[in-house]
Formats: sequence, C-alpha cells, structure tokens
Amino acid sequence: MAFELNNEDMSQVLSFIPSYEGKIVLELGDGVGHFTSELAKKAAKVIALDSTESVVKKNDSINGYDENAEFKCGDVTLPDLTFPAESVDLIFSNLLLTNLSDKQIEDIAGKLLKWVKVGGFIFFIESCSLQSGDHKHKSHFREPRFYTKVFKECYISNGSGNSYELTLLGSKFIGTYERDVKTQNQICWIWQKVVSSEDDKGFQQFLDNVQYKSNGILRYERIFGSGYVSTGGIDTTKEFVAKLDLKPGQNVLDVGCGIGGGDFYMAENFGANVVGIDLSVNMIALALERAIGLKCSVEFEVADCTKKSYPDNTFDVIYSRDTILHIQDKLALFRTFYKWLKPGGKVLISDYCRKAGTPSQDFAEYIKQRGYDLHDVETYGQMLTDAGFEEVAAEDRTEQFKEVLTRELKRVENEKEEFIKDFTEVDYNDIVGGWKAKLVRVGSGEQRWGLFLAKKK
Ligand code: SAH
Repeated sequence: MAFELNNEDMSQVLSFIPSYEGKIVLELGDGVGHFTSELAKKAAKVIALDSTESVVKKNDSINGYDENAEFKCGDVTLPDLTFPAESVDLIFSNLLLTNLSDKQIEDIAGKLLKWVKVGGFIFFIESCSLQSGDHKHKSHFREPRFYTKVFKECYISNGSGNSYELTLLGSKFIGTYERDVKTQNQICWIWQKVVSSEDDKGFQQFLDNVQYKSNGILRYERIFGSGYVSTGGIDTTKEFVAKLDLKPGQNVLDVGCGIGGGDFYMAENFGANVVGIDLSVNMIALALERAIGLKCSVEFEVADCTKKSYPDNTFDVIYSRDTILHIQDKLALFRTFYKWLKPGGKVLISDYCRKAGTPSQDFAEYIKQRGYDLHDVETYGQMLTDAGFEEVAAEDRTEQFKEVLTRELKRVENEKEEFIKDFTEVDYNDIVGGWKAKLVRVGSGEQRWGLFLAKKK
C-alpha cells in the first residue's frame, strides 16, 4: 500500500480515536506498519495482521523493539481467519476496505463487530470516490455513504439473546485542505459496539427515520435551497454570517450543521476552519459527500451537541441555524457554548420561537408532535444572558420568516412539474402543505422566528 499519511495526518488520526491506553488493539492490513509502533506506544498489545508474508517479516524486524506488537500473517477476507468473540478493545484499519468487494466488506463488518468488546471501537480510514495515492492494484473508490451504511446496518446476535450493533461516533476528513489534493478524499470513521436497544437510539432514529430521512432531506433542500435545511438558505446565511466578521483561520463550530451549506459558505468565503456536528447520520453522510474535493477547511461529525465535549476556549464562533428548537435544556447548552468559546467569541443562532403566553391548542399540539421546545424571543435572549453572554441581541425576525416562506412556497409551486419528476406527487403535496401550514401558524402570530447574537467577554 503505497499511500502514506504524513506525521501531522497521523497525529490527527490518532487523536480522533478514544483512549486505547493499556488496551488490546487489532490492526488490520497494517501495510507499511507505521501506525503499529504509534499504537504500540500506548496499547497493552497490538496484534498487527497483514496478508503479505514479506510485509509481516519486514515489520517484525523493523518493529522488533515494540515488545507489545505482534505481527501475524493472515487474510481477513478468508473465512478461516478468526479471533475470539469480544477479545479486542479497538480494531484499527488503514485503507483495507478500499481493496475489497462490497460483499467482502459486508462479511468483514460482521466479523469485526463480533471480535470487538462491547463498548470497544472500530476505526477505519478509506479512500473515497476520487483516486488517491499511487495504488498499483485495483481499488474501489466508493462514496463514503457506502461504508456508513454497511457498518450502520451491521447487526449480530450472540445466541444468548443479546444483539449488538455499531453506533457511529464520528466520520471526518484527514489532512488539511490547502495541501495535497490527494489527501482530501481520505475519510475515517469511528464506531462503537453497543447493545442493540430501541430506546437508546430513540432520538437519533427519530431524526434519521422520520424527520430527516435521506429523501426527506433532499425534499427539504429543494425548497430551502441547495445545501440548506433551514430558513432562507444561502440568502439568510449571507446576511447573518456578515455579522460575524469572520477572519481566515478562525475556528467555527456549527451546531446541527445539517448537510453543510453554511459550513462550505463560511470556509470557502472567509477561510474559516469549520467543524459541523449533527446528530443525524443521514445529514452528515450527505455533508461529507459534498465536501469531497473541496479545497476548504470543513470537518463533519455525527454528534449530539448536548453530549459532545470540547476543551474550553476552542472556538471563535458558535453558529447554529434552526436546530436548537430540538434541544430541551437550552440554558445548559448555552452554558457549554460559553465555555467552548474563546474570550471575545461570538454565538449566532437563528431559531423557531413562539409568542409569549399560553399557546393555542393547535400550536401546542404541533410543538408536541414535533418534539420541539420553543420560547418567546425575549425569554430566549434572557437564557443567553443567564448563561453568561454579553451584548445579547435578540431580534424578532418573524416578518422576514413570513417573506421567506412565501417566496419558497411560490418557487416550489412554480416548479411543480420538475419537483414531481424528481420526487413524487406525495412529496410535493407534503412540502407545499407543510409550508402553507407554517404560513398559517406564522400569520396567526403564534409561530415566530428569532435571531440571536451574543458575545463572551
Ligand atoms: N443548520 C442546518 C440544519 C437545520 S435542520 C441548516 O441550516 O441547514 C436541524 C438539524 O439539527 C438537523 O440536521 C438535526 O439532525 C439536528 N439536530 C437535532 N438535534 C440535535 C442534537 N441534539 N445535536 C446535534 N444536532 C441535532
């Protein structure tokens, strides 16, 4: 395997993996073996498996000083190659799957899920879609969604009634973006083995299977505009981002980034380093796909913003568009935003709000059915103040919301035939009906839209 990551990429890769200190690591297709000695520095034991005898021999001599690294020759695609169930803490592989067929990958996913301990991790790096490195043999450069789907749908049961699956902790690009174009399509995934449970993944499954199904996302995108799943698409993005005075190299966190339109805009036009997190696997899969080949600094990760942690003083800007309506404990979230921001850092939020006072029965039902947590604009702004922010500007942008909705609706109605050709008549009616209902809720004054900007001292 001729492709090599440089040291910077390697440390970026290793920092993405949860601690494996004192743990047992299985490294597959270790190739040139430069990860092996890195992994062996912290791991209790690294079992490095490669199908080429000569590579194994070479590694054994080079890495002979790594007492805790054991090199084995074996082909992971062969049925007789096996490890005991739940025997390793971390499975690491670098450009292994790229060389295998779809069917082989499906089989391997099941094996890996079996070998790793519950709570353990599976990490892999693959080349996606664009050709990279100078592979001599035929490789499959797949779209990242293929790997996401195969591992997400992988499922095993152990015969005593327990079943296990993988939960995606993150997926992102490796390398920096100004540099070698070839590294841009190296994407890594980190998965954790969990006991299958309907409850645990309840909200994520709701987002992925109900509100933000892949086809549903594309339908939404059609009305909001390319890259966006929120009010006003690129127009409001341009208007609001202009308030941030972004500078090249600044770090931006986009909370609930969706399919990444705003992130590409900030990274491409202002040279910001943007990290987008979203709880929906479908959203992130689309965002990642669209990031391939772009020469800007964007990173995407599947993560719940209420559970994620970053070091204090990490970001210059925290940005969130029409997402926090999903979060129940907003004050707690704003307090963490405050910590993650650098001094002088800014938070910019647009969000669905409601009028003050008791909501009508219809509106209360709508909120409940969607699982939203809505506040009036003033209360919302007060929560930012309570979280410690200064210079809090809380603007009621409901008029703009109404104009945008009207414009969006008109556009889709004008493109009815094309819409139905790309989706279905049911989709068309759902979207048009949904927008009309929003306009009624906004027209009655119950549903409102707020823009919030605040600063950390
Ligand atoms: N900000 C994007 C997407 C808005 S849609 C845009 O402007 O286009 C709202 C997004 O919030 C969805 O993608 C949804 O998956 C995400 N979301 C909901 N709850 C979340 C949570 N707890 N953590 C992270 N993202 C969340």
